[in-house]
Amino acid sequence: MWQEMNKPKMATEKGASRVLMLLGQLERLNEGPKASDTDATRQITGRILHIIQTQEKTRKEMMSKGSSGMDVILSTLENTRDLQTTLNILSILNELLTVGGGRRTGVFVSKGGTAILLQLLVSSSKDLPLNEELMLHIHSLLFKVGPKDDITSSSDRKFGVKARLNGALNVTVNQVKHNLQNHKLLLPCLQVLRVYSGNLVNAVSLGKSGALELMFEIIGPFSKKSTTLLKVALDTLAALLKSKMNARWAVDRGYMPTLLAIYQDWHRNDTRHRHMIIRKSILGCIKNLTNIKLGRKAFIDANGMRILYNTSTECLPVRTLDPLVNTSSLIMRKCFPKNRLPLPTIKSVYQYPLPHILAGGPVAQLHSLPPGVDDVVDESDENEGTEVDTENDTENEDDETGHKTQNDDIETDINKLRPRQMQARPFDELRVYERFCLEFTQYFKVNDFQSPGSVTPLSVDPNLHNPLIIPTKQNRRPKNIQPPRSNDPPLDLDSISISKALEGKPDPDLACSLGRLVLDGEISVNGESVNGPQEESGDQAVIEVPDTAALLPLHDPDLYLEMVKGTRSVPAYTEVAYPDYFGHVALNLREPILERAYGVQRTKIFQDIERLIHPSDILDRVVYDLDNQSCPIPDNGESLKFNSKFESGNLRKAIQIRKFEYDLILNSDINSNHYHQWFYFEVGNMRPGVRYRFNIINCEKSNSQFNYGMQVLMYSVQEAINGSPQWVRTGSDICYYKNHFSRSSIAAGGQKGKSYFSMTFTVTFQQKDDVCYFAYHYPYTYSMLKMHLQKLSGMCTNEIYYRQDELCETLGGNSCPLLTITAMPESSSNEHISQFRSRPVVFLSSRVHPGETNSSWVMKGSLEFLMSCSPQAQSLRESYIFKIIPMLNPDGVINGNHRCSLSGEDLNRQWQNPNAELHPTIYHAKSLLQYLRATGRTPLVFCDYHGHSRKKNVFMYGCSVKETVWQTNVNTSNCDLHEDLGYRTLPKLLSQMAPAFSLSSCSFVVERSKEATARVVVWREIGVQRSYTMESTLCGCDQGKYKGLQIGTRELEEMGAQFCVGLLRLRRFTNPLELHNHNSHLLDMENDLKDPRSIPNITSPTTYVLEEDEPAFLEEVDYSAESNDENDPDFEPDLQDNRVLPDPSSDSEISRQDSLT
Ligand SMILES: [Zn+2]
Repeated sequence: MWQEMNKPKMATEKGASRVLMLLGQLERLNEGPKASDTDATRQITGRILHIIQTQEKTRKEMMSKGSSGMDVILSTLENTRDLQTTLNILSILNELLTVGGGRRTGVFVSKGGTAILLQLLVSSSKDLPLNEELMLHIHSLLFKVGPKDDITSSSDRKFGVKARLNGALNVTVNQVKHNLQNHKLLLPCLQVLRVYSGNLVNAVSLGKSGALELMFEIIGPFSKKSTTLLKVALDTLAALLKSKMNARWAVDRGYMPTLLAIYQDWHRNDTRHRHMIIRKSILGCIKNLTNIKLGRKAFIDANGMRILYNTSTECLPVRTLDPLVNTSSLIMRKCFPKNRLPLPTIKSVYQYPLPHILAGGPVAQLHSLPPGVDDVVDESDENEGTEVDTENDTENEDDETGHKTQNDDIETDINKLRPRQMQARPFDELRVYERFCLEFTQYFKVNDFQSPGSVTPLSVDPNLHNPLIIPTKQNRRPKNIQPPRSNDPPLDLDSISISKALEGKPDPDLACSLGRLVLDGEISVNGESVNGPQEESGDQAVIEVPDTAALLPLHDPDLYLEMVKGTRSVPAYTEVAYPDYFGHVALNLREPILERAYGVQRTKIFQDIERLIHPSDILDRVVYDLDNQSCPIPDNGESLKFNSKFESGNLRKAIQIRKFEYDLILNSDINSNHYHQWFYFEVGNMRPGVRYRFNIINCEKSNSQFNYGMQVLMYSVQEAINGSPQWVRTGSDICYYKNHFSRSSIAAGGQKGKSYFSMTFTVTFQQKDDVCYFAYHYPYTYSMLKMHLQKLSGMCTNEIYYRQDELCETLGGNSCPLLTITAMPESSSNEHISQFRSRPVVFLSSRVHPGETNSSWVMKGSLEFLMSCSPQAQSLRESYIFKIIPMLNPDGVINGNHRCSLSGEDLNRQWQNPNAELHPTIYHAKSLLQYLRATGRTPLVFCDYHGHSRKKNVFMYGCSVKETVWQTNVNTSNCDLHEDLGYRTLPKLLSQMAPAFSLSSCSFVVERSKEATARVVVWREIGVQRSYTMESTLCGCDQGKYKGLQIGTRELEEMGAQFCVGLLRLRRFTNPLELHNHNSHLLDMENDLKDPRSIPNITSPTTYVLEEDEPAFLEEVDYSAESNDENDPDFEPDLQDNRVLPDPSSDSEISRQDSLT
């Protein structure tokens, strides 16, 4: 077959070197008759070998581009039957491939050299006795060609498959078997075996051929001899043990204790750490054995925990031994016996009766579970069922680098990508929403218009057909805007005061002398001093409320308490958290993203492992327990006191582990058994100057910004009283890692073998007798929203049209406010009224996800800007009518949920088909949008504010057919893809103005998993082209003015204000004609912002929605080996390569942005 291929062309020019001449002669011999001159071939190859052994330049000549030297050599090798010629050629190839980098190997592979070698190996293995030199040469060459650990493009990535198909595996195994004492031949054979076993199918086959036994014969206790050989044998063994079948075999034969004994022996004898690499290889074998449940059990039975713990502790002081410590730590974490969470059930402590339960819905599922099955410890292997120990593997098995980057989550159904533009409900049903749009129908009576005294507060008037009166610019501002209607408050709250809780015994600390802010009619007001011990009879304290009025114009403690009275919580909270009462003044100091010291996570993990090694050190003392509120809490003065029975609080249990360490468990969302991430709780009775470690042990996400510099928030009541009422980023040694608490498959989307994650942080309290609060992010309660709205309505001037309606009542009986903000008409003239009514609508919403409190702070910034008296704000109001739902999920916020409403569902997955009873806020928000569309007032912009827990900066998701289709690589020519690029304008404007905003993180791809979100439904069904989710980081920024800083309320509020300014600029770029026509294919004035160069860039598969944008974890912890979260339905789609490439077109904008700000 060689001969039929193109004839190699030799250089024939004059002066061709000697080696080329020889190659030419060889080529002619190859072409000659079969029984050609064997002697001549032998001689020529011998001469070539001699020349290239002595002159490097001749090797270069042979391998230079265009030279056919390799073809001639390989052709000769394939055809010759002469042993000496074969050896000559193998030596020539060995010389050629020894140097020259990967290119020469690449040439060899591309010319089919691997197969020729493998065939030679198999055919010569049939000649007995075997020629040792030949075997040595072939294996040395094969080793050079096979892939190494650092996969280079030139090595043969199909090597493993080729070897198996050519039947070479057993030849090499036999060579090893028969040459155990012949190290010279054994080494190259082992090296090749090592390469073979990198392929999992080969590993199974080699295991059956006895390769495992052979490896266990070679490896052994400490010895300074033949360490190279030992290393290769260990690495081969580790590769073989990646097969679960092989691992089972090894465990069954008791090799776990053997490996541990060998490891200990090397640890003891390798005192100068010369052979760290061998020790690491032994651990590699142990690690692969513990991939199976049986192996983990064998490890525990063989006392592996203590062995690795002790050896690691001895290795810790030597930094160069870190790889040993890290691998040991990984093994110990895998083998740590899984526990169930110390809870009676993982279902939320609180259940809320629903008006009806949707069959097949999450609550129905929750109720259908037999008691006690929801938290079964599952020790099975995480990836069980994905075992590759079959011969059915495809030939692609070696393409380890060829991970698919395409995401199946992208919507590919063109029909689903087209806006539906259909009338979902008959207009008669929608007509009731007219009451939320009075500005379009109200008449402005001239006499009222001119008499400012006759202003009446606005409220929903059921009699829609009568003329209504609204105040105009020339009126005085309305004094009494009605607060949202609420039903009878759940408690009889006659008097509210700050005092000590009555049931509390006298206690010298502030926690008690301050008492709690309790809403209770029987409470008396205390007096006297704050500090120092108090008498039982005189345990009175003055609470100095920090005077934040000047700094916080929207905050008023008394008003806050008023608002709390009308807030209905499922647990019927009677306490108020101090931070919410006092208020939070944003820090002037910018807080940098925390840099984590090396080895922090390891230290924390070792402390966790010590729980198992030294169980007698563990207190295991429950100090707070919502499940068992009658349980006596130890009052020994040695334990911290916890509480979170207040709005948005959600601590379920606190367990004192050691003197200064506590495990904390968060409550699940109500009517659910998972979703925990948000936390908010109070701590008292602390000792100042002591390092306390807190572990939140039931986190669910597989990674967190807590691993990338984000800190928790703390609010000290003492600091507040001393003049610093503020949430401060705090905590050191913050880590987020997988722990040993087993996650029930019921709470893990049906996946077995999942674990929870721990978020751990360390805090040193500064003040004696303090009460401190900790939160996931800056809290923002529903009562706070009501207070802010009340205050904002008071800021209303006669230029502002401000109306607050109740969109609906929530399941929990709370009001969902809907705001309308625009400018008053200049006068009651027809022209001015017409201008007033023709303003396009901008629809904003926020806080559908309760844990994303940052979205409320952004919304606060937007609202304050909209109500401000700046000329920009006025011109914005004159440009648009704003419809704003600042809190889409009040019940979730009140009850400390992270994700859901009381229905136990994520409301932002209900927009396609919201249920009026179960998802009232979504149902009515969507209906209002449908009403607007039906009356020709489809919003120009829709934006739902969110928070993002795994990315930095602020960015937007939008919807584009084109950008979605491009992602799928579907041939786009067969579908009409006319698409207005207007959806890109607002994000671009924001990236120029708002320092926290990052255009390169934006995405406009429509994902299947998001088809029921507000953004996609409002785009598809309502026809809003500019339909967005705006995501704000919970952590900080890695670009722009705030690069390297954690985000604070000031920056979030600024973002909200800048969003408004962006809308004002957008006005200039939108065609006025478009405003009444949502099918806008009309003139477009946005061209100057549509940089076409930026569009092709979007086709990069990394641009669309990515959950994580962080690099691989800084501390080497092998998450991939044990974690398989990609399929977790709770998580956003993940990608292998998830670095977001910066949009080159945004570079110019960053510089422009600097000049703009
Ligand atoms: Zn969200």
